[in-house]
Amino acid sequence: MIDLHTHTTCSDGTDSPLTLVKKAASSGITVLGLTDHDSTAGWAEAVASLHGKLQLALGAEVSCLTEDGVSVHMLGLLFDGENQPLQQLLADSRDTRIPRMKKMIENLQGAGFDITLEDVAAATPLGATLGRPHLADALVAKKIISSRDEAFAGLINNESPHYVSHFAPTPEDSIKAIRAAGGVAVIAHPFASRRGQTLTPESFNSLVAAGLNGIEVFHRDQSEEERTQLLLIARELDLAITGSSDYHGTGKLNQLGESTTAAAEWERLESMASHRRVVSR
Ligand code: AMP
Ligand code: ZN
Ligand code: FE
Ligand code: FE
Repeated sequence: MIDLHTHTTCSDGTDSPLTLVKKAASSGITVLGLTDHDSTAGWAEAVASLHGKLQLALGAEVSCLTEDGVSVHMLGLLFDGENQPLQQLLADSRDTRIPRMKKMIENLQGAGFDITLEDVAAATPLGATLGRPHLADALVAKKIISSRDEAFAGLINNESPHYVSHFAPTPEDSIKAIRAAGGVAVIAHPFASRRGQTLTPESFNSLVAAGLNGIEVFHRDQSEEERTQLLLIARELDLAITGSSDYHGTGKLNQLGESTTAAAEWERLESMASHRRVVSR
């Protein structure tokens, strides 16, 4: 079972890299993609925790914004973790998440909610990429709402008046940075319309021109119809097709291995990286 998209406490997941690796090995995963938001901080612990037959595809999920302001996530896998331009791009994204969080908190305070940056810091694991899920956890701790899901359905939704975006590269720039670092770029859940505005079918052409390698088709946030459309686009543009859980521990309902990638598609993707970087024990 190949699951190429998961999160740990290094971003907004709730399992440490060690726990995630153990769970993946015991649930029959053969290749695990480690893709924390805008961070490679979990790589070392995951590698040190490897045992048995599990293989690791180290990566990151890069937050992007199109020229039109549409939020897009780009999975980078098998890139050189020491690549400075890519690490700088990730660091810039993480840095702007702090003033962004301050603004969202000010908006919530202005609307009368009793929430502070200290509350959010207390809900954020040390070294994690700061995100709205941590704000949601702080709101739950303060009994303002009852779950992350409730927070995302209302108070901190993209369409909410309290929402603030943060700096992010365009998807094209992030693809170029991932490829220049020797990795492969797979666009994550591109048609997940239940999350908000999505890419148009036409926009895939410029992603391919920038070096896109694959499309995440099988993902719980994409309907049958959205998957069918994406399969057609992938075939037309000769892109690899992936499926993944986007596991977040208890932070989301998503279960490890609930959607998977076919072995042949993974072999194809792996062959497009500059070096063989899959980690096995
Ligand atoms: P941010 O990057 O700070 O804007 O936060 C977005 C992140 O929140 C995404 O990466 C999702 O994984 C997570 N997220 C979105 N919707 C939900 C939800 N309903 N429940 C839990 N986490 C969510
Ligand atoms: Zn997330
Ligand atoms: Fe995502
Ligand atoms: Fe994700």
